[in-house]
Amino acid sequence: MKYVTLGRTGLQVSQLSFGGIPIQRSDAANTKAVVDKLEEYGINYIDTARGYTVSEEYLGAALEGRRDKFILATKSMSRDKESMARDIETSLQNLRTGCIELYQIHNLPEKDIGKVFGPGGAYEALSEAKAAGKIGHIGVTAHSADALKILVEQYDHRLETVMFPYNIVEDQGKEVLTLAREKGMGTIAMKPLAGGNLDDYALALRYIAAAGVCDVMIPGMGSPEEVDRNAAVDLTAPLTQEELEQCAAVRRELGTQFCRRCNYCAPCPNGIDIPGCFLMANYTKKYGLADWARARYDAMPYHAGSCVMCGACEKRCPYHLPIRDMLMDVAKVFGR
Ligand code: SF4
Ligand code: SF4
Repeated sequence: MKYVTLGRTGLQVSQLSFGGIPIQRSDAANTKAVVDKLEEYGINYIDTARGYTVSEEYLGAALEGRRDKFILATKSMSRDKESMARDIETSLQNLRTGCIELYQIHNLPEKDIGKVFGPGGAYEALSEAKAAGKIGHIGVTAHSADALKILVEQYDHRLETVMFPYNIVEDQGKEVLTLAREKGMGTIAMKPLAGGNLDDYALALRYIAAAGVCDVMIPGMGSPEEVDRNAAVDLTAPLTQEELEQCAAVRRELGTQFCRRCNYCAPCPNGIDIPGCFLMANYTKKYGLADWARARYDAMPYHAGSCVMCGACEKRCPYHLPIRDMLMDVAKVFGR
């Protein structure tokens, strides 16, 4: 396993690291098995979030007796001081530790930056927690290129790391992430598989390593087999001309309007599982999965066709997807 320095945090982390989103669809026993695999391969950086339901708790339990082998990163959507302070305490409790190495402001859009760094903002709680030794370093995660630019250009003296989507079909952060690195910030690639839209995981991970823009990549891994699969990828192998053309073809096919399955659009007042609908529609295009996808879609309690077009979800989607139009396409695929 290759280890890299995560910017000026000085933390030595594995280039291939672990994203904890899938743990919320898992259970305690499987989480332990996943962490066993991480330990076996020397994958030492674990990223989770207050928002990933049970992820912090399961990971905390799985880390009992081996906490010193891992570097922990978590994050909170809190924007004010009081709720951020509360979330830090909850994370410490859930992760069963006295200090979390990296605590991040989660999914910070441009409109909330002033609030977070202003008087009574979340950053004050993070600074105090750092001074008290409850957290080691402070970082941020963002989904919009505009927010990323402001954070790196104006707040780099307060933030030690930045996490942003980076993958074959999303390299809009390339320039600013490069600047972040030059300024000494650690750079973390989220959504290396574009929210599960990239089938060739080996190519996807190698693309990020070859780009040299992010220190670390954190694919979500929900099973020991997925850890085996990702750990087997040779991240030092440069991309061939043929593989570069393959990446260009994927870019053409997927475009920019695709769901990353982050679920920030939830909740739909009508109970529609928005990313689930898109996922099932995508599966119908994959070889051998059409019938399976249709059965799964039919079993969902609410379908795309029951969208009442209120638009609430679109206001929350950080990728500004035309969710309503996209759901109508899903309804056409499945006829409901
Ligand atoms: S627009 Fe449709 S999918 Fe979105 S929140 Fe409203 S009802 Fe739900
Ligand atoms: S529709 Fe947007 S907010 Fe919802 S899961 Fe997909 S990318 Fe995320």
